[in-house]
Amino acid sequence: MKRILALALMSLVVCLCVRGQRLPETAVPESYDLTFAPNLEKATFTGDETIHVRIVKPASVVTLNAVELEIQEASITAGGETQKAAVTLDTPKEQAALTVGRALPEGPAEIHIRFAGVLNGKLRGFYLSKSQRRSYAVTQFEATDARRAFPSFDEPAYKAVFRITLIVDTGDTAISNGRIISDTPGPGEGKHNLKFSPSPKMSSYLVAMLVGDFVCREGGADGIPIRVCSLPEQKEMTGFALEASENILKYYDSYYAIKYPYEKLDHVVFPDFAAGAMENVGTITYRDVALLIDPKTASYDAKQQVAAVIAHEMAHQWFGDLVTMKWWNDIWLNEGFATWMAMKPLESWKPEWNAKQQEIQEILGALVNDSVASVRTIRANADTPADIQALFDGIAYGKAASVLRMVEAYVGPEVFRKGVNAYLAKHAYGNATAEDFWSQISETSGKPVDQIMKSFTEQPGEPLVTVKSACRGDKTQVTLTQERYVADAAKLAAGSHELWPIPVNLQPSANKRPVYHLLRQKEETFELPGCSPWVYANAGSRGYYRSSYEPAAFAKMSAEVEKTFSPEERVRIPSDAWALVRVGRMSIGDYLKFLQNMQGEKSREVVQVMIGHIQGIHDELVAPADRLAFEKWVRDLMKPMARDLGEMPVAGEPAERQALRADVFEVLAKYGRDPERIEKARATAGQYMKAPESVDADLAGKALGIAAQNGDAALYDQYVAHLKTAKTPEEYGHYLQALGAFPDPALAKRTFDLVLGPEVKNQDLFALYFPLINYEIQPVAWDLFKSNFPTILKKVDSADGVGFAQVASIFCNAKLRDDSQKFFAEQNLPGTKRILENGKDNVNACIQVRDLQQKNLSAYLGK
Ligand SMILES: [Zn+2]
Repeated sequence: MKRILALALMSLVVCLCVRGQRLPETAVPESYDLTFAPNLEKATFTGDETIHVRIVKPASVVTLNAVELEIQEASITAGGETQKAAVTLDTPKEQAALTVGRALPEGPAEIHIRFAGVLNGKLRGFYLSKSQRRSYAVTQFEATDARRAFPSFDEPAYKAVFRITLIVDTGDTAISNGRIISDTPGPGEGKHNLKFSPSPKMSSYLVAMLVGDFVCREGGADGIPIRVCSLPEQKEMTGFALEASENILKYYDSYYAIKYPYEKLDHVVFPDFAAGAMENVGTITYRDVALLIDPKTASYDAKQQVAAVIAHEMAHQWFGDLVTMKWWNDIWLNEGFATWMAMKPLESWKPEWNAKQQEIQEILGALVNDSVASVRTIRANADTPADIQALFDGIAYGKAASVLRMVEAYVGPEVFRKGVNAYLAKHAYGNATAEDFWSQISETSGKPVDQIMKSFTEQPGEPLVTVKSACRGDKTQVTLTQERYVADAAKLAAGSHELWPIPVNLQPSANKRPVYHLLRQKEETFELPGCSPWVYANAGSRGYYRSSYEPAAFAKMSAEVEKTFSPEERVRIPSDAWALVRVGRMSIGDYLKFLQNMQGEKSREVVQVMIGHIQGIHDELVAPADRLAFEKWVRDLMKPMARDLGEMPVAGEPAERQALRADVFEVLAKYGRDPERIEKARATAGQYMKAPESVDADLAGKALGIAAQNGDAALYDQYVAHLKTAKTPEEYGHYLQALGAFPDPALAKRTFDLVLGPEVKNQDLFALYFPLINYEIQPVAWDLFKSNFPTILKKVDSADGVGFAQVASIFCNAKLRDDSQKFFAEQNLPGTKRILENGKDNVNACIQVRDLQQKNLSAYLGK
């Protein structure tokens, strides 16, 4: 699955108070014959299945997963005898036990079940999706919701072949994992019967069934038919996705030794989708904003995000679908790999998108997540659906991908690729564990990858490598120390027991070749040839650790940061420095001086990191008395960059430059409070409302936000009206997000009412996050969140504790911290214990930075 931060926050796929449990190992499925007849009008379905199983040991009870299904009839045939089975449902465990009178012998057996269910409105299982015109029947099964559509062995290791038949209305079509192999009229008036080719062996969570009037744009690559299917009225927005998909498939076919392993590839978009997208075998499903691109109005970022989601889901066809983790504790084998892989085809297809620098941004995001004292390890136990859901987080995606990037750089990309291919070949159509992967890479590379990966996978947190270096004649003596970095000065000072074998890539001053040192001890001293005035400890920037330097060495490095370091390294250096600011090991004044050295920066990804820190200072650190001085500092810092970029887009300039111009514009208006730019944002927002295609696409969303930040109820009314008539998902998203930016608390209430009312879909509940992170109205938004919480739960019919509890991490004061902790503790939502602990640590870290640095900031700004 693809979780974008905001989506992850309020995804709606976990149930309330469910205690799931592993199935007993009595029977193993080999194939399913499944027939479904959905009734879209009544929002119900009936099903009939035969599961071909192998009985592993003689038993009179076979237990499957099933929930919210009415089992009408069940029988088991084995040893030439068919017995009617008595069905006992265990709803808390989400299981159905089928009991027969005489024990089933070891060997093959057939389970036959007739069942019925409801096409629910909760975006999971087999559910109802609604456009303005009509309804669709669609599925979303990961992690544990196939059992809501059919009784099944719903655990990832029970791979089987699925033969699916769908009986649908004559005017409708259906899409599933296989292609349609027969289409016959009936049974009954107004129906036709669509049979799909058998799936390869796969896990139940990867089954997909979609029913409605989908239309498809067709293409292909390397002999594989590719389609992008949508509602008919959206077809003109599917061209970009098809082009991206064709290019990505060609890249993956050249990267992997195993070519795309399925007979076709469909991308399907429909309304009401909880996650960003889902990698079902041969049929990837999407929410609208993650797939549709309007060629007339799409921004640079929207195109990149769509391509990145497609690349992520397609990577899963190998990592996750072909080779699947044995159990959810290794979900990172799916999500970490798909995240690691996704940037590669984009780099090849669109080099101008700077995918390499975006990879470093991803690493930095992971390091921030991982700096929380109570953070989990990459590999973590989970047995209940809620605990499993909680594993789909920044650690499984970002940290796992970052550790893979470090190891790939250490062993060399070609060797790594060889190892990856050997691993895929060994486990194709089967399941694997973390050990399977890292033993393979160790074997292929001859390097201790198993030790490195085990330590990063089974220990929480991230290392901080501190470098001391000094010239000794024609050599440089280097001392490296490692400690666990925690964004908490007191805990950091208390020391840590973690020890990682870290492949540290050392760059001994400019123009010298980097050299790896595998740091195994807490402290190691060694010599490098030549006299170097400084030694940078993360050459190429792909190491999963922070680094810090003696002040004199850092000063020398930062003086030449623009000319000596690559864009990937320049993305990283301010972030590592900021990590030291957070724990009081660098003064914020020194950090701001360092940013001034980067005023000539041209790379958008580097500037985005700088802007992220400026936002953090603006929202959480500046004392009210220093606000004007800080705004002036922001203007002084950014105006030369703005001048260099010019005011208006220039024909033929790179798209990146245009997008960077919009970023710089935004920071000047939002954090620099530059009156001219605020005025221009208002005008741009007005123009966008009249004719979206007439406005700089990269500026549009930002201008709406800035205008909202300075706007009133009249403007709010206009945004709401345009939200309701938005023609593209991006346009809709711009308005939805901007509603949260108004500073008037009364408008926050209206946003809650709107988002929780009938006009905004359940999939967009995450919009409540926007007023919550708006620091001007945060306390009011939090009160609204609490008072509306029963409505929120009712709307999703189940507490996604995992998503909601993340709200407890966004505050920066003791009162809201304590209140939010208390509130969520009282809700007793499943799967949230660790998330609440992480939240408390996050808020404490934020409060602590303010305590440590606010005075330093005042002193710096006042001088
Ligand atoms: Zn994924």
